[in-house]
This record gives sequence, C-alpha cells and structure tokens, in this order.
Amino acid sequence: MPFTALGLSADLVQVVAEEGYTEPTPVQAAAIPLVLAGRDVLAAAQTGTGKTAAFVLPILDRLRSHANTSFSPARHPVRVLILVPTRELAMQVDESVKTYGRTVPLRATVVFGGIPIEPQTKALRAGVEILVATPGRLLDHVGQKGVNLGQVEILVLDEADRMLDMGFLPDIQRIIALLPPRRQNLMFSATFSDDIRRLSGTILRNPATVEVAPRNATVDTIRQLVYPVDRDRKEALLAHLIAQNGWRQVLVFTRTKIGATRLATYLDRRGLEAVAIHSDRTQPERTRALEGFKAGTVRVLVATDVAARGLDIEDLPHVVNFELPWEPQDYIHRIGRTGRAGATGDAVSLVSIDEADLLRGVQRLLKKAIPWTVEAGFVPDRNAEPEPLRGPSTGRPGRTHHYAHRSPGRPRSGSGSR
Ligand code: AMP
Repeated sequence: MPFTALGLSADLVQVVAEEGYTEPTPVQAAAIPLVLAGRDVLAAAQTGTGKTAAFVLPILDRLRSHANTSFSPARHPVRVLILVPTRELAMQVDESVKTYGRTVPLRATVVFGGIPIEPQTKALRAGVEILVATPGRLLDHVGQKGVNLGQVEILVLDEADRMLDMGFLPDIQRIIALLPPRRQNLMFSATFSDDIRRLSGTILRNPATVEVAPRNATVDTIRQLVYPVDRDRKEALLAHLIAQNGWRQVLVFTRTKIGATRLATYLDRRGLEAVAIHSDRTQPERTRALEGFKAGTVRVLVATDVAARGLDIEDLPHVVNFELPWEPQDYIHRIGRTGRAGATGDAVSLVSIDEADLLRGVQRLLKKAIPWTVEAGFVPDRNAEPEPLRGPSTGRPGRTHHYAHRSPGRPRSGSGSR
C-alpha cells in the first residue's frame, strides 16, 4: 500500500518520500486513516514499528487549519499534548514532529526534567500548538502557570505501559483533569496489559484498536544466541566477545543502574570505549553518550531497560543481554533494537545458572528455544550452586533454583552447541 492511499496531504506524502520511506509500516497503515477520521485509537506498537509517524503525520494534517504566522501567543494555544515516559523519547518525538512537520507552519516544543526550566518556560510563553512532554516536568510548568492546557484537542499517550511502570499514573490523571473533556485521544503501548486496558477505558472514547504483531517476535533477521556462563565470568566473556568478533556499536542491557555503571567501567578499562546510560545521569551526559555512540566514538552503550526505552538507534548490529530481564516481554523490546528495517542483527544473551527460569520464560513467550553455544575458555562450572535471584524491587530473595547440573536453556535437540 502506498502512502498516498492513507488520505494524508500531498506535502506530507512528499516529506515521507524525502525521508526515504517507500511504504507505510503496518501500524501506520492501520492508524493514520483512523486518526485522520477523528477516532480515538488504542494501538499496540513498540519503538521501531514506525509508531511516531503513525500519530504525528495525521495530527499535522488535522491541525493544519490552525496554522498561522501571528506573533500573538494567544493565537498559538497548545492544541496537541504528547505525553511520553522518558527524556530520550521526548527528544525523539519532538524531532519527528519537526521533521515530518517541516512543511506545516505549526509550532512545537518539548519539555522534560533534568535541565533548567526557564528556557522551556520562554518557549511555552511564546505559544506552541504541539507540546511533547514528560508528565513530571509538565506539571512543574502547570504549577508555575507557564502553560495552559485548556484548549487541547488531541492527547497522545506514547509508551503508556512504560509510563504506568514508571509510576506516572497519578501525574497522568492530574494532567487529564486539566484538559477539555471533548478531545481526541490516542494511546500507544507495547503491550495490552490489564492495567493498560483499564487506563484506556477511563481515557479513550469508543476507541478503534490497532494491533500489529510484535515485529521482533517474528523477524528472522535477528540472530539470537545464548552463551551459558558463570555469573562471575560474564564481564570477561563480554569483553572477549566484543574484542574477538570486532563488534562496534554494541548495546548492552543490565538490570540495574549500578550494574550498568560497573560494567561500563570494566569494559572501558580494557580499552573498549563504553558508557553507561541511565536515569541517574544528567541530561547532557545522556545526550553526549548517545551522540558518541551514534558517531562511533563510544563502542559500547550499557543501559537499563528504562533508560533504553525510546532510544532510536537505527541499524544497530549487536544487542547483548548481560542479564536477562525480569519480564520476558522486555527481552523482545531489547532485541528489537537490532534487525530493524530489514538489517540483520545479533542478539546475544549471557545466561548464568540462576537465570534458567528467566530464560525459560523468554523461550515460552517466543514459542521457541534459542540456540546456545559455549565459548571456549568460558565453560560454565557444572557444579556451581545457583545464587538465589533477587527480585526487581523488593530486594528479597526470589525463588531458589535447582538446576546446578544443567546448562541453562539447553534446548532438547542440543542444537547450536560446538
Ligand atoms: P518509531 O517506531 O516511531 O520509533 O520509528 C522507528 C524508525 O522507523 C524511525 O527511525 C523512523 O524514521 C523509521 N520509519 C518510520 N516510518 C517508516 C516507514 N514507513 N518506512 C521506513 N522507515 C520508517
């Protein structure tokens, strides 16, 4: 299906062509006509599916009639509010609005925490039609009377599941209370959990539902591989794999911020330029790390799941799960960083004996066993007793595992061994 079939204006079709998009992604094909028709939409789509353009393009068309060149701020009220969970995603969505909207004279700005508030206040005072915001900083602006949301016509909740995970529900509710009751609502979420359905029930009006297959669950351009390894040899194995295979641009996931920092320091000391990116870092630090990574001066970016959400790094060749995530779904998010847009990618998981249950959960979700291989020199100690896993937030020991005499994740067929 060509972009021209979706009902977008000719100039926007031209813009996407200039961006090199030859045809709409599934979420774009499904959502764009619905948004143009003024429907509320609940869409299951994660980063990498083209979801940003799926809401930004039709919003630009719907708002076009309000475009004006007046200097009066009153002529530029906030008409579209796009709420996102993280600063990185906020910057990216803002960039997309500016890219896709380059032919439409509407004003857009972005507000998020971690940087001084005054320049944002100034931009808001001048008047903007499209506002991209993280919930906390937006409420700061509301508190300072720096922004009025009384004329919002379209609300977008992007990565709504992640906003709930991050505890933004009360903030979202406070923000929604400030909006006019009659408006169009669009909600994007990687998954449709019960919480998401409940939230959509309170916000959306007779929504059309758009569900596209989690692209990475079916994409076979991603080569997945598990390395069983002892927990205390993971750092050494990772350094070995990066150096040995000459990997550049490796995104590594850890479960904790402190783990990310430690690992980045370890790799960096061994001459593999590495930076940790997580929410304790200041915004300029995070931006610098990401830019270095994109430019190739930083070889390894170590991130937690939360920090990695919304990082738009195209054609990333290597993703490493230094630790498996607590939630199997996060494995899919993580490996979705690679193999995008037809490029091939590697997703490698370093799995210690205490993670056998987590690996099983991932394989259940994928409905297949991931091939595994043991790296020479890193053969796991078969007599190792697994340490009890510690849960994500409670800090209490999780279930005890009894797989001491089996390699984790060994598929029944034993494929992939060498
Ligand atoms: P998103 O899921 O919005 O984060 O988008 C992921 C990436 O896909 C971005 O780098 C977009 O530039 C790109 N993209 C969006 N729509 C298309 C399309 N129709 N064809 C090719 N690439 C696209």
